[in-house]
Amino acid sequence: MTTAVQKAQTVQQNNETNTPPATQAVPRVCLVTGGTGGIGTEICKRLARAGHVVATTYRNEEKAKAWKAQLAAEGYTLHIYKCDVADFEDSQRAVKAIVADLGPITVLVNSAGITRDTTLRKMSHDQWREVISNNLDSVFNITRPVLDYMLENNFGRIVNISSINGQKGQFGQANYSAAKAGMHGFTKALAQEVAKKGITVNTVSPGYIDTDMIQGVPEPIRLGIMSQIPVGRFGKPEDVAHVVSFLVEEGSGFITGANIATNGGHFMD
Ligand code: NDP
Repeated sequence: MTTAVQKAQTVQQNNETNTPPATQAVPRVCLVTGGTGGIGTEICKRLARAGHVVATTYRNEEKAKAWKAQLAAEGYTLHIYKCDVADFEDSQRAVKAIVADLGPITVLVNSAGITRDTTLRKMSHDQWREVISNNLDSVFNITRPVLDYMLENNFGRIVNISSINGQKGQFGQANYSAAKAGMHGFTKALAQEVAKKGITVNTVSPGYIDTDMIQGVPEPIRLGIMSQIPVGRFGKPEDVAHVVSFLVEEGSGFITGANIATNGGHFMD
């Protein structure tokens, strides 16, 4: 007797031979800033596996070249461009170079970010400015030139990687929390401006993700944080990449101006 699961599989197989599955991606040129980071790497891999052409920007040349070689050994072809996304002119130059080499960028993931944690009493003006310019100015610097290509193509997907700490604030992170909250304000404003042009703009706010950053936190503090996460574990970069890949799909065109919390239930609003 044919089970319901087998029937569903047969329908799926027939669909795959007759029509493309609903999730099949139209190949796009994607730019992921901060692609060489712990989360950024998984986003790049996931988009490449979906059939997209993926470029990333970097500052640290040695790290980026090693990253590209490592991923090439795993079977990924990724494109790297030197660019300080905190610098507007450099961002414009890099976007032009990517478009000249690969074609119009219609998927943008703003993932570059840094932290310079300290309480506000001890925070220098440089620590404030550095975090705001690398996390928030960078979103303007890259999105502004990329948007022209999305408008010309009547299609675009912009995903801004914010943080749980932009939603709830965090002791010692006035600079980072302000920048990450600002990203979502940017998302909501731009989403309204470009909604009729086939362009969606969304924020993904990861909770604590098991990257080098988390591994650097002393174990007792790490375990204390984990005990506050209802799902009972830290997130994985793949958890964030999964949400990003969903948001950039053709079928996600009705989701815009949203903030998708990806935090294992750690903070709900
Ligand atoms: P990483 O620290 O691993 O990597 C940061 C990336 O950003 C690197 O590729 C770095 O490149 C790049 N970058 C930073 N500043 C610039 C700049 N001015 N110009 C160009 N590139 C720059 O970060 P993750 O991948 O772990 O995090 C990705 C995003 O997710 C960040 O925005 C982070 O704030 C956010 N996030 C992370 C969480 C976590 O637990 N890891 C939790 C919540 C949010 P280079 O090394 O060449 O400078």
